[in-house]
Amino acid sequence: MERYESHSYDVVVVGAGGAGLRAAIEAAAAGCSVGLVCKSLLGKAHTVMAEGGVAAALATTDPRDSWKVHFRDTMRGGKLLNDWRMAKLHAQEAPARVNELEAWGALFDRTPDGRILQRNFGGHQYPRLAHVGDRTGLEMIRTLQDKTVRSPGVDVYMETTVAKLLKDGDHIAGALAYRRDTGRFIVFRSKAVVLATGGIGRAYRVNSNSWEYTGDGHALAYAAGADLVGMEFVQFHPTGMVWPLSVRGILITEGVRGEGGVLKNARGERFMFRYIPEMFRKDFADSEEEADRWVAEVIAGRKAEARRPPELLTRDVVARAITQEVREGRGSPHGGAFLDIASKRKPEEIRKKLPSMWQQFHELADVDITRQPMEVYPTTHYVMGGVLVDPETQQATVPGLFAAGEVGGGLHGANRLGGNSLSDLLVFGRRAGAGAAGYAKAFAGEPRVETAQVEGAVAELLAPFERTGGGENPYAVQEALQDMMGTYVGIARKEDDLRTALAELEKLRARLGRVVVDGNRQYNPGWNTAIDLGNLLAVSEAVTRAALERRESRGAHTRVEYPDSDTHFGTVNVIVRRQGKRMTVAQEPIPPLPEELRHVVEGEV
Ligand SMILES: Cc1cc2nc3c(=O)[nH]c(=O)nc-3n(C[C@H](O)[C@H](O)[C@H](O)COP(=O)(O)OP(=O)(O)OC[C@H]3O[C@@H](n4cnc5c(N)ncnc54)[C@H](O)[C@@H]3O)c2cc1C
Repeated sequence: MERYESHSYDVVVVGAGGAGLRAAIEAAAAGCSVGLVCKSLLGKAHTVMAEGGVAAALATTDPRDSWKVHFRDTMRGGKLLNDWRMAKLHAQEAPARVNELEAWGALFDRTPDGRILQRNFGGHQYPRLAHVGDRTGLEMIRTLQDKTVRSPGVDVYMETTVAKLLKDGDHIAGALAYRRDTGRFIVFRSKAVVLATGGIGRAYRVNSNSWEYTGDGHALAYAAGADLVGMEFVQFHPTGMVWPLSVRGILITEGVRGEGGVLKNARGERFMFRYIPEMFRKDFADSEEEADRWVAEVIAGRKAEARRPPELLTRDVVARAITQEVREGRGSPHGGAFLDIASKRKPEEIRKKLPSMWQQFHELADVDITRQPMEVYPTTHYVMGGVLVDPETQQATVPGLFAAGEVGGGLHGANRLGGNSLSDLLVFGRRAGAGAAGYAKAFAGEPRVETAQVEGAVAELLAPFERTGGGENPYAVQEALQDMMGTYVGIARKEDDLRTALAELEKLRARLGRVVVDGNRQYNPGWNTAIDLGNLLAVSEAVTRAALERRESRGAHTRVEYPDSDTHFGTVNVIVRRQGKRMTVAQEPIPPLPEELRHVVEGEV
């Protein structure tokens, strides 16, 4: 073991996005030594890309808001599959986490009287997203990073990828990682590990995600024996860029619709009025006149009395509506819908409230959004499924393993509301840091890492260098996987397609076994891709098996043969679990909602 660089910590945090930074701050504040490991540079995590804002019932812009309304919106958005205990903690604690961020130096947009300004977003009844123009994630990361580097006892390992979790018997003992620049391995010994690795979007070709989103945390947890929950729920954000092809999938923030943008088909019809689900009918405008009145009230800074435009329905509903319009021949020239804010807001307002969107379209598509509509189509954006955790501590089903942020499961149920991820990572990042610190402090003795475990993992990781002959190219295998997932496990799923996907996954796994990489280990993207591929295959299989198991349509999961929601499936979560080398799925009952919370979800607040 002496031949590897090695370090010991109370807590190792994997990932330095919002969740990882918040967890590291909390664990350090509890007096723990912390190793913070991230595969990109510090400050470059996916969270910087977050645009629209962070959801918290601060009630600064509309005093009618409260944690109960936020809880209700989150549960209804998640089609009641959410872990209600997490949804309650999230709604109750989000305002304190946003205020804390402000106290640490985050500069949010302001109301005229100096309070944090909140914007409208899909599925949120009142303006609830604290924001910094459309660059909220950048400000959050800047603030959290500043706080982290000032926290005593936190060492940062940048451009370092964790490739395996190490165990001592049934509990966590650390992690094996490699430095991307030198390719050298590091053994971390630690009592607790917090996974904060983000999502899985790179399993699909058209996606809004950063290169880091290869499902590492999901796959590491699964391999270590932890349960995953809700993996069938992959969010396809309704508004990704369509054209030019080279930028297909890049996100257009929901903030565009929150600021009054409307969706139209090729005939110029505002089609969303035809897609309002029964559950939401009384909360949404049923005429253009009423929807426009809502926009006018919001722009004037008045409390909206009109009902919200249907463009602000939840993402699953809007994404399905756009795909249906295109399927039925009413799509835009490049196969999408038109998103028009130019006819609703003044050019100077658009440039002030949506500067990144203006720049994105100007530079990438030669479109001026203050004058022309954007073309949009759904893009793979977020995974609701993740590591099954205890709601209070974020501990997984493996002792000593914790998870927070996008890699954690439960909070969002069948569909996440925009803005609820940034609040999720603040609330549960903090809880995971505290949970891991509590666990580490109570842990007697030191975790033991066996040499054989490390040597076995290292040999597996180096195998692509050892193979000779004309093997497989890792990029070709990754592209084949992405295309396969888009074709067979996309927005609308069928049993035959899902079974085909499982067969294709077997073939891709065999191809991964033949992958060959050239050169040495220093900054070798081919080798790094080969390692990521194992994770992508594991999460793709988890999504496919869970999608096959859920024989209904709910939230982000649509089964063509079962177009409606099913009463039985409304009472269970699908759990993915490793048994030996086999991936299994099981249905497990959702804890019943207490009477007082059922009243909140169903009734008036
Ligand atoms: C364009 C865009 C806009 C968005 N806008 C919003 C918004 O306005 N509001 C909202 O609520 N949500 C938004 N989201 C979603 C939100 O940004 C993410 O869900 C959230 O930032 C995830 O944060 P995280 O801390 O879980 O992970 P991340 O911020 O992705 O951090 C993951 C970290 O893990 C590291 N990592 C991954 N694998 C490994 C490994 N094997 N070893 C070591 N390190 C690893 C990465 O390097 C990174 O540091 C948006 C998403 C996108 C793509």
